[in-house]
Amino acid sequence: MENLPKVAYRTLVLGYNLSQLPHELAEKVSALLKTQEEFKQWATEWVLSGGRSPLPERNPLKYFANRFLYAGRALDWFEGLKKSGIEVEKMQPPLVFNAQLRLEKERDVSRGVFVDIQKRVVKIRKWSSKRGNTIVLPLGENAIKWILERVVKEGGKLVLAAVWIGKSRKTNATKLHVALVFRREVASMETKRLLVVDFNALHNGISWAVVEGERMVSRGVLRPDVAKILHLQKVATRLDSACAESDEICDKATATRSHIWRLVRSWEDEAAKKLVRLAVQYRAAVVVDVPHDSSVRKLKKGNYAAEKKIFLNFGRIRRRLQGLAAWYGVPYREERLYSTICPRCGRKMEELPNRRVRCQCGFEAHRDEVPFYWAAKLYPKLISFSNSSFSTPGVAAVGATGF
Ligand SMILES: [Zn+2]
Repeated sequence: MENLPKVAYRTLVLGYNLSQLPHELAEKVSALLKTQEEFKQWATEWVLSGGRSPLPERNPLKYFANRFLYAGRALDWFEGLKKSGIEVEKMQPPLVFNAQLRLEKERDVSRGVFVDIQKRVVKIRKWSSKRGNTIVLPLGENAIKWILERVVKEGGKLVLAAVWIGKSRKTNATKLHVALVFRREVASMETKRLLVVDFNALHNGISWAVVEGERMVSRGVLRPDVAKILHLQKVATRLDSACAESDEICDKATATRSHIWRLVRSWEDEAAKKLVRLAVQYRAAVVVDVPHDSSVRKLKKGNYAAEKKIFLNFGRIRRRLQGLAAWYGVPYREERLYSTICPRCGRKMEELPNRRVRCQCGFEAHRDEVPFYWAAKLYPKLISFSNSSFSTPGVAAVGATGF
């Protein structure tokens, strides 16, 4: 049957800057780091042996190995590793815990990670045989709000937690991360329309259109603050070249790069949310036109301005969009839609200035709109997919880089 509920996940990642944690936690955190290193060693051997090496005999490693394998089944973790050719070198397996969420006065059932909404704390336990090694971390206002929306409003359940200590590639700060994974069962939304999303290089924006039959019901473009980002890129480049002069300048360069990264990231999050909101509002299945990896690689290698390359990374926003669509039961599909082939007659079109295209047959449009005409043309096929075999991608891979 088509409308069986599917399982979807959302993850909240809390980050705690080690340099800002209370002093008394320092010793516990370094012990936790040691456990993480030991676990990493086991996990690496395990992956290299193709999953044949034995489980650790003693806790806490035994506990983490079991949880890790459980999470692996639940989240396709191991499959994901295999598909990406098992990059063991880069593998940073998190410590996976079972977890409990206390909304009010529920009994504490002694799970590894305990999220207490009333007391506004997250406790990490079970990772050491030493008594009193519980790590208690504060839970901020936004995190609480996020959790309550997922759980109370949307019926999600906290199913597991993952913890890792690592240096952020982007900000260079060492952080303790706690990822809380929520699961929900959701029936696929019945769709009446398509939300066609065209991923261009992000400085041209993400164009979207709601298509119903041959009609475009609504449309728009989502754009990051390109001018600001390009300006900051220039600042960072200047600082980088003066980096040899002093540590202070180097730190400023790093801070600027991290600022850029945060800007792009929060824009991506907002854009993904906006698109899924539109899909729900219009009862539309999401059809995404993502450029081929090979054409993106070509652009990156070519004479594309270095400071614009940041706008060619679609991976993250695409994963955000997929994950959110799954959570809200919005059918999602990726489809290559043409932007330079005429949707009327199939001829290759002439490219004009200002990203316009024109065909011999008289058809003319902005090239970012052409995929919408193609979606309208393919509408019967795409909408029938959307109400049957459309995939609702529910599973995310676990990794130290985030979920
Ligand atoms: Zn034509």
